[in-house]
Amino acid sequence: MTNTSIQTAAAVRRFNRSFILSEIYRKTTVSRTGLIASTGLTGTGISRITRELIAAGLVVEGSQLPRNGLPGRKETELSISDAIAHIVGISLHVDSRSIVLADVCGVIKDSVSLDIPLSESPERVIRRIGDLVLELIDRNNLQIDQVIGIALALAGKIDPINGILMESRIYQWKDLPIRDLLSEQVGIAVAIENLNNVINLAESYVGQTQGYDNILTLRVGTGYVAASLMLDGRLIRGRNSAAGLIHHVPMNANNIECECGRRGCINTVSSGFGILARMTNKKNVSFTPGELPDSNRQIAEIVNSAAQGNTRSKRILREGGQALGMYAAQLAEAICPEVVVLAGKVGRCPAYMDGFTEAWGQFASPDNASSVQIIRSNKSVIEGTVEFAIDRFLLSMDLDLEPLTRAFHSMEEAA
Ligand SMILES: [Zn+2]
Repeated sequence: MTNTSIQTAAAVRRFNRSFILSEIYRKTTVSRTGLIASTGLTGTGISRITRELIAAGLVVEGSQLPRNGLPGRKETELSISDAIAHIVGISLHVDSRSIVLADVCGVIKDSVSLDIPLSESPERVIRRIGDLVLELIDRNNLQIDQVIGIALALAGKIDPINGILMESRIYQWKDLPIRDLLSEQVGIAVAIENLNNVINLAESYVGQTQGYDNILTLRVGTGYVAASLMLDGRLIRGRNSAAGLIHHVPMNANNIECECGRRGCINTVSSGFGILARMTNKKNVSFTPGELPDSNRQIAEIVNSAAQGNTRSKRILREGGQALGMYAAQLAEAICPEVVVLAGKVGRCPAYMDGFTEAWGQFASPDNASSVQIIRSNKSVIEGTVEFAIDRFLLSMDLDLEPLTRAFHSMEEAA
C-alpha cells in the first residue's frame, strides 16, 4: 500500500471506532448485532474494534441479552466502562469557577473550586488551575494516562480551533493562548469553548434538544445575557467569534448606562448585571473583576427572594425576561429555530421565564409561536462541560488507545 492509502485506511478505522463508541455512549448499552444494524459495518469489523476498546478498558461486556426465541449465539451487552478513562471539566465564569473530575460515563467523581480571583494575572490563574487539576487526578489515584482530556468553558470571544481566548470583559483578558498554556503545564490535551455554546451542545448531545438542528440557546447568569446559535446542525460563530454576544441590542429599556456608553442596551435590563443595577438603583452596569463574587451572591439572593414572593425582585426579573422574550421573537424571525432554550440561574428562574414566555407569546410571529418549543435547560455549565469533554475526547477520531491500554494492563496486574 502507498503511504496515502495506509493513512486513509487508518483514518477510516479511527472514524469507525469513534462511531461505535458514540453508539455505545449515547445508547448506554448495545449489542454487537445492534451495532451492525446501526453502523452498517460488518460483524468482523465490529468484533475487531470492540476487542480493541475492551483491551483499553473503555468498554465492558455485561449481562447476556435474551434472544427472544431467535436462533444463534447469546448476545452480550456492551457499555462504556467508568473505571479507566476520565476527563476534567472546568467552568470559568462569573457564576462558577469549578474544576471537576468525571468518568467517561459522564458521572462527576470529585470537584474543587478555583481559589484564586479572576482579577489576578491570567498566567497565575492558569498556573493555579493546572495545579488543582493535577491535585484532583492525584487524590483520586489516577495516572495522567487515564485522563483523556480537559474541557474549559469560558465567557467571551473564543477561538476553539486555535485555542485562543480572543477577548473577555469578564476576566479582562485578551488574545490569550489559554488552551496551549494549560495543556503544556499539565501534559493533557485541552479543548476550549464559549460557555453558552457548551450548554447548547450538551443539550443537543444528551439533553432535551437531541435530534434538533436549529437551536437558539439564551443564557442569563450573573454576568451578561448571551446567545448560542446552532443552525443546520452547526454552531454559528461569526466575525471575531462574536455571534450570539447580544449584550448591546438596543432596547430603549431604561436610563441605565451600559458599559458601551449608551443607555438602555438589553444588558441593562435582561442580564444579571442589569437586574442587579435595577435592584440597587445603580445608574450603570460597569463592574470590576474583583466585584464579581459579590455580584454573584447578590444575584442568587434576588432569585431566591423572588421565589419566596418578594414583589420587587419578581417584577424586575419578569421585566428582564420580557425584554429578552421580545428580542428572541425578533431574532427567531431571522434565524427560524425549532427550539429556544433558556439557561443560566437567572434565565431559568420562574419569574424571568414567565416574563419571557409572556413577551414571546405577544411578539412571536404566528408561525414561530405555534411551532417553536421553549425549553428550560436543566444543565449547569459544568455539567455541560463534562458532556463537551466526552464528545471532544472520548468520541473523537483522535482518541489514542495506547496510553489507556497500558494503564488498564498495569491496573489489571496490580489487582
Ligand atoms: Zn451596550
